Amino acid sequence: MTSVHELIRGAAEAEQEAASPRRALALRATGISNCDTGLVRDPWAIDREAGYGPGASVGDRIPGDAPRQGALPERYTNASEAELTRWITEARAALGERVRILGHFYQRDEVVQHADFVGDSFMLAQAAKEHPEAEAFVFCGVHFMAETADILSDRDQAVILPNLAAGCSMADMATIEQVEDCWRQLNEVLADEATEEKQAVIPVTYMNSSAAIKAFCGRNGGIVCTSSNARTVLEWAFERGQRVVFFPDQHLGRNTAKAMGVTEEEMPLWRPRLPLGGNTPEQLRDSRVILWNGFCSVHKRFTVAQIEKARAEYPGVRVIVHPECPAAVVEAADGSGSTEFIRREIEAAEPGTVLAIGTEINLVNRLQAERPDLTVFCLDPVVCPCSTMYRIHPAYLAWTLESLLAGETPNRITVSDAVAEDSRVALERMLAARP
Ligand code: SF4
Repeated sequence: MTSVHELIRGAAEAEQEAASPRRALALRATGISNCDTGLVRDPWAIDREAGYGPGASVGDRIPGDAPRQGALPERYTNASEAELTRWITEARAALGERVRILGHFYQRDEVVQHADFVGDSFMLAQAAKEHPEAEAFVFCGVHFMAETADILSDRDQAVILPNLAAGCSMADMATIEQVEDCWRQLNEVLADEATEEKQAVIPVTYMNSSAAIKAFCGRNGGIVCTSSNARTVLEWAFERGQRVVFFPDQHLGRNTAKAMGVTEEEMPLWRPRLPLGGNTPEQLRDSRVILWNGFCSVHKRFTVAQIEKARAEYPGVRVIVHPECPAAVVEAADGSGSTEFIRREIEAAEPGTVLAIGTEINLVNRLQAERPDLTVFCLDPVVCPCSTMYRIHPAYLAWTLESLLAGETPNRITVSDAVAEDSRVALERMLAARP
């Protein structure tokens, strides 16, 4: 199997060779291109840039006190891939069960091959909770995922993010200050609608959000959801509130609510920089789900045109997409659901089936490798992994493990007790919500 890393390198070399912009364009059209020129640079070239850290995907909103990734020692940046693999393997063996490596489905293969557990963000946080014997978890994912693992694991267990620059651009689109400001404005307009049985608004946040926002939901009668249980969670919320404000992914919120019969008109978009999010008081009063203006830069790339092309090239192809994709894409697909849903669909497919998938390419490539009797391909012809997760280069994993071996705990992600407590309230409501 050609790894995403090799595809990106290959595309970069091919583009460098391209004598003219026209040739580069032709390469892009044939699908041997990648979506972000930053991907071909080694991550430490970017990590040393001033101001890079969690939140950096929306550069103008990085809190001044956000931790920064320091420069990696040259031992790691100059190492070959074979050396890094050997150092990681040796450090893992020496650390034994004291340290567990958690690898997200979207993580690059060179890192995932070392993981003790592979899963989505909530599965990995649960894995941390279920291993009280481990002293530390090395979370090869992004910042909000490490926070969730810290919330669910014991307070004395360390959760480490190997590269602090691995944030999530979607999670960064909603800061706690913006969310609190939105809440204050919503209450000014809607507070008189609250009754003894129902709040005027229930805050719901997708797992892909900061711990501060999960805690906000816990404090305000709200709840967390994943892409697997978003419908159950919205039903829970409608039993307790007149309407929902959904953070930060507009697409998951819209796709889920639409399937429940909520109309477009009842789902105004909240643009955080505008008064009332760019809405009139009447629009907010008529709403059922107020959608935060956030999105995933990976899943936003999928289009109806890609689906039409796949259907033309592979008659009978089954198209499955993630609900973080835009509504028109979800409607044009044969099915939509969480990463777990996509995995199960591929597992259950008859030999010879052709499946076009609308989700992150590292996962799609891995699923194809697991089922060579199927044809499984990514709808997006451009190689576009989650670029922030891609920052967990094996060099960072080697550095983290060798630091642990030397008795140091680098890049520990710590959620304060107060925030962790309120976040757990919202997470426990989610676990208790039943269809
Ligand atoms: S794939 Fe999208 S939502 Fe998931 S971590 Fe990357 S940017 Fe965030």
